[in-house]
Amino acid sequence: MSEKIEVLITEEQLDKRICEIAEEITRDFGSKDITLVCVLKGGVMFMVDIAKKLKQKVEFEFIDVSSYGNNTVSSGTVTINNGLETSIEGKNVILLEDIVDTGRTLSHLIKYLKEKNPASLKLCTLLDKPSRRVVDINADYIGFTIPDAFIVGYGLDYAQKYRNLPYIGILHLENQ
Ligand code: 5GP
Repeated sequence: MSEKIEVLITEEQLDKRICEIAEEITRDFGSKDITLVCVLKGGVMFMVDIAKKLKQKVEFEFIDVSSYGNNTVSSGTVTINNGLETSIEGKNVILLEDIVDTGRTLSHLIKYLKEKNPASLKLCTLLDKPSRRVVDINADYIGFTIPDAFIVGYGLDYAQKYRNLPYIGILHLENQ
C-alpha cells in the first residue's frame, strides 16, 4: 500500500484563518482570562498557533484522548488516558480540537469538563466534518468545514506519521 497526500489547506490559508478565529475569540472574551484545553496529540499545533495570537492572559491544559488507534476509522470508543492536571472550576475554558468527525470525542469531553464546573465552556475546532456526525454537536468556533476524507498534517496523524506537515492534506491509501 502506498500513501499519497493531496494538499487540502495550505500553510497560508491555515495562518489566515487562525488569525481570524483568534480575533473573534479576543473580541468575545474581552478582558476575561482564558484556559485553553488542548486535546492531545492532534490539537497541539493549533493550540500553539492560536495561543500566540490571543490578547488575553492564557493558561494551557491538556487532555490525552484516544479513539483511532492505527486506523483511519474511529473505534467509536473514547478513552481519556490522562485528564486535566489542575482545576478549571470558575475558569473560562475553550476546548481546542483538531477535528470533529462523529462528534463522540467532543461530546464525551464536554461532559467530562462540565462536571468540573468551569465558569464557561466554548468549543473550538480547526476542522469540521459534519457529514460524518453521529452525535449532535456544534462547535462555537470552526476553522474549516471539510468533506468526508481522512486528513493528515498540522498535528493530525496516520499511525503517528505526518503530524509535522505544515499544511492539511487528504491521505490516499493506494494499492501499488
Ligand atoms: P470523533 O470522536 O469526532 O469521531 O473524532 C475525533 C477525533 O478523531 C479527532 O480528535 C481526531 O483525533 C480523530 N480524527 C477524526 N477524523 C480524523 C481524520 O480525518 N484524520 C485524523 N488523523 N484523525 C481524525
